[in-house]
Amino acid sequence: MLEKVVIANRGEIALRVLRACKALGIRTVAVHSSADKDLMHVRLSDESVCIGPPSSTDSYLNIPSIISAMEVTDADAVHPGYGFLSENADFAEQVENSGFVFIGPQAETIRMMGDKVSAIELMRKAGVPTVPGSNGPLDDNNDRTLALAKEIGYPVIIKAAAGGGGRGMRVVHNEAALLKGVYVTQTEAKSFFGSGVVYLEKFLENPRHVEIQVLGDGQGNAIHLGDRDCSMQRRHQKVLEEAPAPDIPTAIRAEVAETCVQACKNLNYRGAGTLEFLYEDEAFYFIEMNTRVQVEHPVTEMVTGIDIVREQLLIAGGAALSLKQEDITITGHAFECRINAEDPVSFLPSPGKVNLFHAPGGIGVRVDSHLYSGYTVPPHYDSLIAKLICYGDDREQALMRMQIALDELLIDGIKSNIPLQRELVRDSEFHKGGVNIHYLEEKLSS
Ligand code: ADP
Repeated sequence: MLEKVVIANRGEIALRVLRACKALGIRTVAVHSSADKDLMHVRLSDESVCIGPPSSTDSYLNIPSIISAMEVTDADAVHPGYGFLSENADFAEQVENSGFVFIGPQAETIRMMGDKVSAIELMRKAGVPTVPGSNGPLDDNNDRTLALAKEIGYPVIIKAAAGGGGRGMRVVHNEAALLKGVYVTQTEAKSFFGSGVVYLEKFLENPRHVEIQVLGDGQGNAIHLGDRDCSMQRRHQKVLEEAPAPDIPTAIRAEVAETCVQACKNLNYRGAGTLEFLYEDEAFYFIEMNTRVQVEHPVTEMVTGIDIVREQLLIAGGAALSLKQEDITITGHAFECRINAEDPVSFLPSPGKVNLFHAPGGIGVRVDSHLYSGYTVPPHYDSLIAKLICYGDDREQALMRMQIALDELLIDGIKSNIPLQRELVRDSEFHKGGVNIHYLEEKLSS
């Protein structure tokens, strides 16, 4: 069992990790930038260390600072949360080489999954369904590229192997635009991600985004915790998620989840992970795996009753998975609304002082947020300030509770997307279930 964990993140996820540590009797160290000394989890942690100035590059992404904080505080492990260093294989490697535990998969697993080309290949071998595509990187041979795209069939999407955060992708509708598209994507990928490797996939026109949560213990055991639908997106950023994904035939749902478990067993996967899929015409297509806890993990926790961060901590402490697949049952339905400090119309960030924060309550309502009245949202980081999660016996009840909870939620002083979320949970198409990944953008532009 771990004794002292450094939380190398900020905001709501740092608080989420702190709570899970406390529940297991693990001591906590908050490492934070100089702009974040007033964060809730910094106040609640056993110890805190300032690791640098506000800029993330100099603080939350500063590997030597974080490792020296682990040394100074005599911690035994680090939880990276999501974002920042959570999928940085070099960080995981340096942490383990310094004699500490990285709460997540082995560095080589992160590296393999961080390269989408190798991730896809690995998944295909395990029987996970993937998107028809080039099955490997493009090379200098333009004729080969043109032939591959023709075989896949237009439209195709050019994707950077090292891409992430919705960047490094370009859709091409015809042959005339292909080579230029490849060139531009390669150039962008090189400057954004340091690698110009790109590959091709069939561009699915109207898919949904459905993902499977998995847990592995690095000792040969792996299970899945069901699926989530995250199709409500703007600019490839998730806005509103739910579990389980609505309206998917039971056999198809079960089959894809089983292939995910098989892939994790093949990888001897350690920790929490998510396999992301596009879902169209009753078929699943793997797009990538995230080797960390995800923002939307609470919806899975609500319908399974399993504390995913607790499992991460136990696994990192060396325990074998105590849960078996047959122990996992999906009960009821849950939604998560991401609350961002941004203008609800222009989407421009809106940092500043929160004069008043009032969280909703009642049965089935969960708020994961680091906000409190008087807190100032700094301008340097991601705009996520709260996650409102509502559970119900069925989808309808969960949605009703979300409507009520959103109406109770009050954040005064800064702008937020609460008005947009209030509208979305009352949207008639969304109520039916199963909107595709373009739905929100189309709605916003109409
Ligand atoms: P990232 O790592 O940047 O999040 P993903 O591969 O997960 O990239 O893709 C992000 C989003 O881009 C998906 O959720 C989907 O909206 C869109 N997308 C990716 N691949 C395809 C595809 N083959 N067809 C259609 N849309 C796609």
